[in-house]
Amino acid sequence: MYGSRYDRIPWAQRVYVRPGERLVREAQWQLLTTRAPVMELTDYRRLRPLKANEEFLACMMCGESRQQPMFEPSGNGWHYHVVRCPSCGFLYRNPNILPERLGDLYATGYNTFLTGSYAANRQRRHELTMDAFSPVFDEGKERRLLDFGSGAGLFLELAERRGFDAWGVDLSPESVVQANERLSRARAFLGAPEDVPEIAAGGFDVITLWSVLAHLPRPLDDFRTFRRLLAPGGVLLILTVNAQSLLLKAHGRAWSGFTRNHLMFYSSWTVRRLLSRTGFAGVAFAPHYGDTVEAGTTALPRPLRRRLRRAVDLSDGGNMMRVLAFADDEAIGRWGGGPLTVHRLSR
Ligand SMILES: [Zn+2]
Repeated sequence: MYGSRYDRIPWAQRVYVRPGERLVREAQWQLLTTRAPVMELTDYRRLRPLKANEEFLACMMCGESRQQPMFEPSGNGWHYHVVRCPSCGFLYRNPNILPERLGDLYATGYNTFLTGSYAANRQRRHELTMDAFSPVFDEGKERRLLDFGSGAGLFLELAERRGFDAWGVDLSPESVVQANERLSRARAFLGAPEDVPEIAAGGFDVITLWSVLAHLPRPLDDFRTFRRLLAPGGVLLILTVNAQSLLLKAHGRAWSGFTRNHLMFYSSWTVRRLLSRTGFAGVAFAPHYGDTVEAGTTALPRPLRRRLRRAVDLSDGGNMMRVLAFADDEAIGRWGGGPLTVHRLSR
């Protein structure tokens, strides 16, 4: 269909550079979402067996209870169902995991792969994301930072290097131990922010969520907490998989964002909803062109790199989404100038 000259381009880039493919994939998606049946939750429940650690949900972003069954991703020893909200387009796993059983997903060996070249790639991704929102993260001196879901401390290490007064929380005891071994000034704690007095006190200038948002079973509650923990003028940084990704539109159930432990999948529209409902004043986005393109290490020839950037921009379809949320008008005033386009959120 597209000819062989694109065969050698990696899958993750091909969708963005083959002529006409963006429009084809968007049209396919449009067709898929209009054709997928819309069901009442009561009918949907009858279709799906419910495990002991699961619950059925209505849309958490808009309250719509009707369901559009979309995908059934699966992998080694797991599978789940993804539905689309017919009102706001939110994609989420349904049935979902009961919050009190979230630990089941992380029972064993979760942090074993957070080292070596994986760690180096992670840290590069963190640096690229901070740079995409420059100058917000350039200088950390006398600024208090909370990394929510701090894992093995890879980001906290970068944050303390940039001068931030950095704190982390995580639910995995092994990860917290590992993080504190890695860190010199920054500290990681086990539990929720409310469990740690030094963190519950709030006053943070920055909160970061690195690949954590898709794992949250109660995002509204968590974001109200984040909003409360932010100091006046504070910002919240999110990196998550993008539910508008052209790669999702191309690969469907085989999309890389449908991982074992992901629960909810946000687009720039549904994340706006989440932020406005939890008291944030504004939001800015930095499109994600892929780490190798941004780091300048891609083998893609220059004209194709340009085409890739254009396809990402036109479709809002990068595979990851990078979001900077502003707590209040003071935050917008402080950081909203320059290259960042801030969208104000209505309450
Ligand atoms: Zn909805």
